[in-house]
Amino acid sequence: MTLDPLRIHAASWVVPVCGPIIADGGVAVSGGKIVAVDALSLLQQRYPLAEVITHPAAALTPALVNAHVHLELSHLAELAATPFLGSFTCWITQLLLLRDTLGADGDRAEQAALQVAEQLYASGVSVLADIGNTLIGRNLASSFAGILLPFTEYLGLAERTLARNFLRLQSEPDQALCSGHAPYSTHARLLQQLKARSASLGQLFPIHTAEPAAENEMIRHGRGELVEFVRARGFWDDSFEPLANKNGGSIHYLHRLGLLDARTLCIHAIHVAPEEIRILAGQGAKVCLCPGSNRFLGTGSAPVAQYLEHGILPALGTDSLASNPELSIWREMQLLATEHTEVDPALIFAMATRGGAEALGLGDRLGTLAPGKDADLLRVPVPVHKTTATQVYNHLATTGSALVPLRIRV
Ligand SMILES: [Zn+2]
Repeated sequence: MTLDPLRIHAASWVVPVCGPIIADGGVAVSGGKIVAVDALSLLQQRYPLAEVITHPAAALTPALVNAHVHLELSHLAELAATPFLGSFTCWITQLLLLRDTLGADGDRAEQAALQVAEQLYASGVSVLADIGNTLIGRNLASSFAGILLPFTEYLGLAERTLARNFLRLQSEPDQALCSGHAPYSTHARLLQQLKARSASLGQLFPIHTAEPAAENEMIRHGRGELVEFVRARGFWDDSFEPLANKNGGSIHYLHRLGLLDARTLCIHAIHVAPEEIRILAGQGAKVCLCPGSNRFLGTGSAPVAQYLEHGILPALGTDSLASNPELSIWREMQLLATEHTEVDPALIFAMATRGGAEALGLGDRLGTLAPGKDADLLRVPVPVHKTTATQVYNHLATTGSALVPLRIRV
């Protein structure tokens, strides 16, 4: 058996994410794994025979994670091609209409989904958590160059839809990943069944949470824009049980249902009160922010600094081309940095890497540059006039999709 030779990738900057930036650093790799991360001079002392591959005017970073996308909606991109000023339910109505017109699957949808997955990979994203109602995500998963987690989404608020959904859920093979759409669209008992299944299989349970402000109105009082929307579609049957706590919100609701733990991913999580952030932190639940989609739909901006204060490092997600004109985790970082100047750019970059990997249960393999992790690195161009760690983090977090990294996978 021949051992894979040890190589050192050296760059002006190494950004481990789990520790300080290293100027003139190196990453020693062998057999597809990271062996050591340190100053280049120290690595060369330790491994004098190792080949050194230099990457001047660049930072070596972990690959990015997109913790929330709907690949199957990629062919509906015209929805987000022009600014949108309507209500949240107006957008859903438009989406459903266009999907009815163009079809939910078929060649056009599959080609668009494939193209988006490939573009995301080329931009440095190694992990996609995809949510869909068709087989598009599942079919793409085996050919995706990184890791594609294809979640099948369950919906149904009316009690009469429960039996059919329970039956469908029972017939899912164990390896299938399943998610609940949202508190406003999915019956509480179905959410509990979905979570129980995910928990018993050790799988992640993603759910859209506190995305439109109207979700809290529904949860507190059983009324409002979302209720009227569901009623108009014939799925409101008064089986929804509002919270007794009229100051509560989506997180209280999910907590009451017993859905929050370290393997629950709350997506968007915009309209979340301080007390609810404490609940999330106490349960160890994960959060995924989607600033680009939120901006397009005008749903608001999540309390990022408060999450960080409570020890929650959120993940980042692009959501779909139906609610975001550009799917790029670099752009999500840029938007977050623009909207939240109080947040350290180093933490924003950590969200796009470590936050995503940990949220998806892949923190032992990806998200940081550390010994034992996958050697899945990005070489990101950094102008030579960036001479401090602060400048490098600013560059990474605020440049946006103009940053085009090269991949180093060994
Ligand atoms: Zn979504």
